[in-house]
Amino acid sequence: MEILVSLSKRRGFVFQSSEIYGGLGGFWDYGPLGVELKNNIKRAWWKAVVQERDDIVGLDASIVMNPRVWVASGHVDTFADPMVDCKECKKRFRADDLAGHVAAGVHGHAAEAGVARCPECGGELTEPRMFNLMFKTFVGPVEDQASTVHLRPETAQGMFVNFDNVLTATRRKLPFGMAQIGKAFRNEITPGNFIFRDREFEQMEIEYFVKPGTDEEWHQHWVEARRNWYLGLGIREENLRVRRLDKEELAHYAKDTYEVEYLFPMGWSELEGIANRTDFDLRRHTEFSGRQLTYYDEESGEHIVPYVIEPSSGVDRCFLAVLFDGYREETVRGEKRVLLRLHPSLAPIKAAVLPLSRHESLAPPARKVWDLLRPHWMTQFDDSQSIGRRYRRQDEVGTPYCVTVDFDTLEDQAVTIRDRDSMDQVRVPIAGLVEALRERLD
Ligand code: ATP
Repeated sequence: MEILVSLSKRRGFVFQSSEIYGGLGGFWDYGPLGVELKNNIKRAWWKAVVQERDDIVGLDASIVMNPRVWVASGHVDTFADPMVDCKECKKRFRADDLAGHVAAGVHGHAAEAGVARCPECGGELTEPRMFNLMFKTFVGPVEDQASTVHLRPETAQGMFVNFDNVLTATRRKLPFGMAQIGKAFRNEITPGNFIFRDREFEQMEIEYFVKPGTDEEWHQHWVEARRNWYLGLGIREENLRVRRLDKEELAHYAKDTYEVEYLFPMGWSELEGIANRTDFDLRRHTEFSGRQLTYYDEESGEHIVPYVIEPSSGVDRCFLAVLFDGYREETVRGEKRVLLRLHPSLAPIKAAVLPLSRHESLAPPARKVWDLLRPHWMTQFDDSQSIGRRYRRQDEVGTPYCVTVDFDTLEDQAVTIRDRDSMDQVRVPIAGLVEALRERLD
């Protein structure tokens, strides 16, 4: 973890938020390479679940919603973790963490401290108190109970409350889904493990509405589809597992839940939860809003309340898994190299253009090659230090291809493409370079 935190900072993937002021626990900034990787993850997800499917449409709901939403969803009453404080050193812990449920803690479950003393100093702990994880703020100039709103702790509710709008606008038939990517906020008691547990993070969520009775089958479909998505991004199979939650781990709305977990340095931990939420949400919002959130089933001639399968994943956790999975240290020809073996679709920079040296005759053709590639992909131009060091620098940030412009280029109008993983080099004419890279990147 320390190696990755340091690489992330040094190369501009992730910085501590407001670092010059000492930072703020659970908040992070994504740097120039980080924002590219993050956008690529989101793009890959959107492509797989919206673009390539004919049964899911996108949505972008607001972060702040009518406060009744969170009463209806159950978050006001149950979105809480048990918190204990050490009476001696004043450190604060999640009681269920101390009980050994670090990876699998479920919000809203009663405290079972299990440990009577502070794990840091051995001091006496307070009784567990339930602590609601939603951030509060105010809408309008008056700061009172009536103007209190929450920052959404999940994107899901934006989709449930728009069920009728989307159904009417798109005339969809069951089964169909909505997908959304957006920020969520949780005032986690103990943020940590770098960007694994944040207070501000991003979710990629699907609400997939199905006919009751077909929910279990669709649940299996989604568990398989989501597992395959991670594998398709190059995550190694031995680092990925699917775990079915025990009954006592289930959230209040869930009939059944699977987690896709990744083997992080701190152990198997959740990347994504895939829950069968039944008709809980639509029924609750019907009850609290007075609006009928039903679907007219032409076959039976009845209005039904669909069941929902929810694959809910975290962008930041996926980002961390992708970094871990891609990170390698290798010794090649007696030299150590660090390699980020990222899937080409995720790599922040697809190709780097490197003139062999800073010789003045190489700069104009190298810049021309760079101009040629820039409209197609995120690229970089680098002419500092030795060519070997520049290759290593690109390997370390996962750039799949380096394009080298050398003295022969001046004669033969060709360049060398170097492959990050095999380090093989092939010569291609500049006129065919875009096509050659496209073949490899696709
Ligand atoms: P955990 O048990 O780790 O707190 P959770 O079960 O509460 O997670 P969900 O409510 O199922 O998480 O949220 C769906 C997804 O959102 C998670 O699988 C995770 O990828 C992401 N996520 C949830 N909380 C955080 C967080 N504090 N920081 C980063 N990502 C998060």
